Amino acid sequence: MENIEQYYTPSTLAEAVQLLANCEGNATLLAGGTDLMNQVNAGAKTIATNFINIKRIKELSDITITDNKIRIGALTSITAIQQSELIKEQASILSDTADAFASGQIRNSATIGGNLCNASPAGDGCIPLLALDAVVGLSSFENGEVKTRLLALKDFFVGPGSTQCHTNEILSFVEFDAKPEGIGFFEKFGTRPALDISIVSIGFHASKNNKTLSNVRIALGAVGPTPLRAYETEKVIENKTLNDLTPEFITSVEEIIAQEISPISDVRGSDWYRKEMVSKLLKRILNYVVR
Ligand SMILES: Cc1cc2nc3c(=O)[nH]c(=O)nc-3n(C[C@H](O)[C@H](O)[C@H](O)COP(=O)(O)OP(=O)(O)OC[C@H]3O[C@@H](n4cnc5c(N)ncnc54)[C@H](O)[C@@H]3O)c2cc1C
Repeated sequence: MENIEQYYTPSTLAEAVQLLANCEGNATLLAGGTDLMNQVNAGAKTIATNFINIKRIKELSDITITDNKIRIGALTSITAIQQSELIKEQASILSDTADAFASGQIRNSATIGGNLCNASPAGDGCIPLLALDAVVGLSSFENGEVKTRLLALKDFFVGPGSTQCHTNEILSFVEFDAKPEGIGFFEKFGTRPALDISIVSIGFHASKNNKTLSNVRIALGAVGPTPLRAYETEKVIENKTLNDLTPEFITSVEEIIAQEISPISDVRGSDWYRKEMVSKLLKRILNYVVR
């Protein structure tokens, strides 16, 4: 922290991206600080000479719906997502994730934008948003104005702690289609029910029309260097009817998803254990779907 020379608290997105442009890449952004400050204290990250606290930018803290698209501002807290009636009605998978996220205290400070930009393979917020096929808005200051490019979330993560958000950009929102007819489930497995990093996590989203599943999307956490989609498994379930989801079919899908992933072994779980847990959590979800 001793190398900080300037501390800024912009109150608008325009002010913040202009500051970033002036800093020419030599800046660190602070949102809720629940990842960043721990990483700095542990010596895993250093703060640049320009420290920009973006938490006071009110325009990035709203949850809105326009033309059937739900937009969540990057500075929206996990508590606000958990309590949003709109999210409960249109994207319950995200409410369920917020329920399983950290503790009340952390949820009050932690932002959804910080969760995505921290790019942990185990970041819980990434999983439902991948399953909802979300896009992110990345804003910068160009030719005297705010420019925002859209990028599919599935293309956003590069590796652990690394994303496609450039040093002159702020992630300003995440957006996805409202899904009133959709079904979604989130399951997270850790050594204890709260305040634990996921050993594995899984999100499932699909449209269910006339008992047929379409637009099947499965997202997985902590089984690779980034949060990821299980495309092969999705294809096998796509266009299946509920009658097709027999115990034999579900067993075969469990094997397919285990073959599709290559998790690492670490102190929290072996590769074998992670594959087993992903298979079993998918089985649990498919049994919910059938009910
Ligand atoms: C006790 C504890 C429990 C936790 N439990 C969980 C859990 O259950 N699940 C989980 O997923 N996480 C958990 N976390 C991690 C953390 O709370 C989340 O990842 C949180 O969402 C991070 O958001 P933040 O606003 O605090 O980010 P910050 O710490 O402020 O920022 C994180 C990183 O993203 C960058 N950044 C932030 N916002 C933006 C933006 N808008 N644009 C560009 N870059 C940005 C920052 O520069 C920084 O590098 C836990 C943390 C703690 C301390």
